[in-house]
Amino acid sequence: MSQETIFTKIINREIPADIVYEDELSLAFKDINPQAPFHVLIIPKTPIATINDVTEENASLVGHLYVVAAKLAKQFGFSEDGFRVVMNCNDHGGQTVYHIHLHMLAGKTMGWPPY
Ligand code: C5P
Repeated sequence: MSQETIFTKIINREIPADIVYEDELSLAFKDINPQAPFHVLIIPKTPIATINDVTEENASLVGHLYVVAAKLAKQFGFSEDGFRVVMNCNDHGGQTVYHIHLHMLAGKTMGWPPY
């Protein structure tokens, strides 16, 4: 199941975003409410609502988001120091936009656990 969200509008350039990466499958842009010095969202262009909707059929697309994270880490110089990627799911996970997205956070030492 897929629904149009604000992220579809960003993909279609109907609302602005600070885009840092794009290819035929995905888009990455700066989070408007950054939680780290570097905070981007990496999204598939084909909407998938939540992790609950990940299947064998779209698994390679979801895996591609991690390939993009690795590329961005290299491009922006975070590969060695490290970074965090997080995908929230539904209420308890803190998901607010129902189009899956990898949060990529970098540029500081992250705390754990995340609460
Ligand atoms: O994981 P969650 O669904 O809560 O994350 C949604 C993220 O989308 C938030 O970090 C929010 O700041 C970001 N956002 C954005 N640009 C928008 C709307 C939301 O970067 N136009």
